[in-house]
Amino acid sequence: MNAESGFARYARPEFARLFRALHLDVIYQGGQGDHLTRKLPAGADQGTDQVLDLVGGAGSSLFGHNHPALLDVARQCFEERIPFNAQASIRPGAAELAQRLSEIVGATTGASYVVTLGSTGAEAVEAAVKHATVEHRRRLGALQEQFEVALRRAHRDGVADLVCASGPAQGRSSAEVLSEALDRIADLRTADPVFVSLRNAFHGKTAGAGTLTHGGNVPADLHVPGPRHRRLSDWSPQHVVTAFDSDRVPVYSVTVDAAGVAHSQVRHLSPVAACFVEPIQGESGVHEVPAETLAALRELADRHEAALVFDEIQCGMGRTGTFLASEGSGVAADYYLFSKSLGGGLAKISALLVDEKRYVPEFGRHHTSTFADDDFSSRIATAAVDLSFTYRDRIIETGVLLRERLTEVAQRWPDAIIEVRGRGLLLGIEFHLPQPESGLLREVFDTESLGYLIAGRLLHTHAIRVIPTLSAPTTVRVQPSALLEPADVDRIAAGFDDVAGLLSRGDYTTLLDHLTVPPAGVWQPPQHVPLPRRDWPVLHSGSRGDVTRVAFLANLDVPGKLWSMAPELAAWSDDQCEAALDRMWGELDPFEVVRHRVTSESKGEVEVIMVAAPFTAGQAVAALRTGHGAWLRRTVLDAVELGVALGAEVIGLGGHTSIVTNAARDVVESSIRVTSGNSLTAACAYDLLRLELAAAGPGERRVGLVGGIGNIGAVMAELIAPHCDSMVLVGRPGSARRLATVAKRLSSVVDVSIAEDLDALRDCPIVVSATNSADPVILPHHLAGDRKILVCDLAVPGDVHPAVTGLSNVTLVSGGRIQLPGMQTPHFPGITLPPGILYSCMAETIGLGFEPETPSPSYGGLSSAGVLAARDLAARHGLHPARIVSDDISVQPWIVDQFGSTIEEHIG
Ligand code: PMP
Repeated sequence: MNAESGFARYARPEFARLFRALHLDVIYQGGQGDHLTRKLPAGADQGTDQVLDLVGGAGSSLFGHNHPALLDVARQCFEERIPFNAQASIRPGAAELAQRLSEIVGATTGASYVVTLGSTGAEAVEAAVKHATVEHRRRLGALQEQFEVALRRAHRDGVADLVCASGPAQGRSSAEVLSEALDRIADLRTADPVFVSLRNAFHGKTAGAGTLTHGGNVPADLHVPGPRHRRLSDWSPQHVVTAFDSDRVPVYSVTVDAAGVAHSQVRHLSPVAACFVEPIQGESGVHEVPAETLAALRELADRHEAALVFDEIQCGMGRTGTFLASEGSGVAADYYLFSKSLGGGLAKISALLVDEKRYVPEFGRHHTSTFADDDFSSRIATAAVDLSFTYRDRIIETGVLLRERLTEVAQRWPDAIIEVRGRGLLLGIEFHLPQPESGLLREVFDTESLGYLIAGRLLHTHAIRVIPTLSAPTTVRVQPSALLEPADVDRIAAGFDDVAGLLSRGDYTTLLDHLTVPPAGVWQPPQHVPLPRRDWPVLHSGSRGDVTRVAFLANLDVPGKLWSMAPELAAWSDDQCEAALDRMWGELDPFEVVRHRVTSESKGEVEVIMVAAPFTAGQAVAALRTGHGAWLRRTVLDAVELGVALGAEVIGLGGHTSIVTNAARDVVESSIRVTSGNSLTAACAYDLLRLELAAAGPGERRVGLVGGIGNIGAVMAELIAPHCDSMVLVGRPGSARRLATVAKRLSSVVDVSIAEDLDALRDCPIVVSATNSADPVILPHHLAGDRKILVCDLAVPGDVHPAVTGLSNVTLVSGGRIQLPGMQTPHFPGITLPPGILYSCMAETIGLGFEPETPSPSYGGLSSAGVLAARDLAARHGLHPARIVSDDISVQPWIVDQFGSTIEEHIG
């Protein structure tokens, strides 16, 4: 198994799928300085393998990849055979690093710190949460002891009944006031403490840290309940200071003066144990928290006697030009967190610094981990700390230059770039979400994928590696290392200039060109995410607005017709379209394509919303073949859900969407109508064939029916049997038994036979085809060459090979087309029919929209009665069959009265 497949199967299935979709499924096999060496695909004869890395390990490679000074330290560690595991002993490396960190931070804050080492950023956050918890509870515990002593003293001294003469508890006895205080303290001490973090904060993804993280784009069911938490959405200093005042609990104490008079005082205690803040928020799109807000947070923490925690995991370690990103604010925190670049890109290490005045020594005894304090990571980290000072000036200079150049790009393309933010080598470029014309491209460019699509263009065209920030994916992170050269700055600016220009001009053909390379590896569907509970009941007609809405679901068209769905990509060849659709397969959600109003000839108007089920017919067939039918069905049900959410009262299942939902049966709705629209398709063909059969001479009335066990095929057989002399039902090899069942039902009406070979059509002057095949099944050699033949193709996509069109003896009628009444010519992308003509399944959906009381004639298996009902429904609204023979269109009104009863007589 190759790395791609192994990663997809055993490591990160969802990432593998995403990377495949976005053509980010690349392997890096080396890293030096700011460059990664890409493993080029086998047979690639172009493209460079050196990629300029601006992801920078999500901020952890400030000193580039494999910095020689750090490699030296690592090598030394190996050569000296230092023990990696020496728990429960004195760890010299940890001691040196801890002292160094304490001194560096202390030089800014004036404090000294006790340092708890760990392995990851989130672990440092967890440690801070735990330390703040114990600190908070111990402080309350100490207070509780003080009050207990005060109460005992009051009793001992005989002043327990003394009534307070002044203060907030005036008039109440000392004992009562002190007992109440003790209760309140005990309640707070035993309750879970509260942690505060900011809007858009990112503090990691473990259960506790994940609660502090504001993960708007993470599914709700991936959130594990962590510590009690409050979010600060308003950052204005005046709001921050008093933010949680109502949570503070007043506690009264009593003092007795020399004259023996009791006085009461109040102090406020709070459940808040700590406030977390990233001085520059990284993952939310690089947003600097203003110094005034940091100062207000300091005040807030003090008001609540809580710890102020600066999470400098991403912004610290010199990345912004100063060791602490918060340095310039003049605000000191109680705890500091470091990780990422602390390990120099080689070691996994994190550190929690706690002001020694607040440190709870026992914490260090109980909060341990196997890998904490190891000499290998600590020694590399100490060397990395040294490097942060070595590169300090260079970081500042490069940061200024880079920001300047990127700002110029942003100014050149204001339509594409919102702004460039950040400081030093922590920059973010926020892009406008483009608004392409087509629904398909709007779906492709959703908030989650924009940054990754930009990343693909930069990677494949400019050999520059970026990714979006985690919780604000329309911002692309630019986090190069301190080694970045001025020439690289030019390259970066040129790369972003290209991307922004393409976005601004709407040149999606070029921007997405990297998606037109066929994907490698096996496709796997995404897992279904259960939907939120639907609003209930679904509203009924008229209550949603002035017009009835219907949603017509259709899968994407064949790759060669992608231009119809996305005119922006018209320049792509069929192969390019196919490759891009293959990459995007399973990646897109159902989306609204377009909406139009359609008016009845008699009475009524509907709004038709076309909803795309995001797979092609070929993908549907392939998914069924590879056992992924459940995914297909699910995708259609998601599209139904979208239709319902958009207010549709009728859901029509076009193209393959009815087949994969078992002729609509899997769409279970109680207050809206669901139709496959197939009855009207059958009605169209029936209308045509009756005329044809009525005109045919004896011996000419032999019909070959392909797909007779399908939903439409079976009802067609029933409908036309009474009108022909003989019929052959043709199916796929292996279908004989099921064909025989259909044949048996017809045997009293017509001379019927079955065949598993399409050659059986060679003696049929009339051929009707309605299979589910994604590819044409009827080829020229299946048809007689020496007589006139009518082929009625009801399948979408068509069953008849294009070569048949060239046969002079064959008249090919694509069945199931309806002309709209009047001069209405709404354009539905993906439907490449002449103006004003729709597929009959869509017309049936519209017809149901005109008549709120008429039940769906096409839910589950079709019946001849249903076919006639659909025909009558269409007739009532002027939706008449259009026959398209080559380029000729002829519309003939339904022949309702003449034939209606005939069928009923024959098929009881
Ligand atoms: N805090 C901040 C500010 C971060 O940026 C990150 C990582 N992006 C973390 C915490 C979590 O670090 P880790 O991924 O190592 O757990």
